[in-house]
Amino acid sequence: MDENRGLLIGRMQPVHNGHISVIQETLKEVDELIIGIGSAEKSHTDSNPFTGGERILMLTKALREHKIDPSRYYIIPLEDIACNSLWVGHVKMLTPPFCRVYSGNSLVQQLFEEDNMKVVQPPLFNRTIYSGTEVRRRMLNNENWEELLPKSVVNVIKEIKGVERIRKLHKKEVSELVRKK
Ligand code: ATP
Ligand code: MG
Repeated sequence: MDENRGLLIGRMQPVHNGHISVIQETLKEVDELIIGIGSAEKSHTDSNPFTGGERILMLTKALREHKIDPSRYYIIPLEDIACNSLWVGHVKMLTPPFCRVYSGNSLVQQLFEEDNMKVVQPPLFNRTIYSGTEVRRRMLNNENWEELLPKSVVNVIKEIKGVERIRKLHKKEVSELVRKK
C-alpha cells in the first residue's frame, strides 16, 4: 500500500510561525510530508523578496529548531509554469508520490480536485499576524517582525541582509511608479 504521504505548498516569503504550526499539525495526520516551496524561481520583488535557496535554508533551519524529525519531510522547490491546466502534472513530476494535498488556496484545491486528488483545507493559526504580507509590511515599517518568525529564520534573514534588501526593492518600486506618473 502507498505510504500516507501529504503535500503542502507555500511561497514562504519568508517562513513564519504559521507555516511551522501548519506543518506540525499536518505531520500528526501523515507519515511523511512533502513541503513544496512555491514560485521557487522568483526573488527580488516586493512580494517575493527571497530566493528559492534562501527559503530552503530558512525552512531547514526552522524545522531543525522545532526538532521535527528530518526523515519525515522533503523540501522541494517548485517553479511556476504558465499553464494552470498542466500545473498538477508539473508538481507531480518534481515530488515524491503523495495521496493528499493540504492547501488553503482555492485554485490549488480546484486543480488537484479535478485530478481526483483528496484535498484538505488546514486551519489557519493567528492569521492576522502570521502572514508573509504582514511580516514584509513590518520589515518595511521598522516594526517588530522578529516575533512572527522562528529565531533561526530571523538569523538567516540577518545573514542575507534581508530587511535591507526589502527596503531597497520597495524604494526602487516607489521611484519607478513616481517616474511613470
Ligand atoms: P503571503 O502573505 O506572502 O501570501 P502567506 O502567509 O499567505 O504569505 P504563503 O507562503 O503564501 O504564506 O503560504 C501559504 C500556505 O501556508 C497556506 O496555503 C497555508 O497552508 C499556510 N499558511 C500560511 N499562513 C498560515 C497560518 N497563519 N496558519 C496556518 N497555515 C498558514
Ligand atoms: Mg499567501
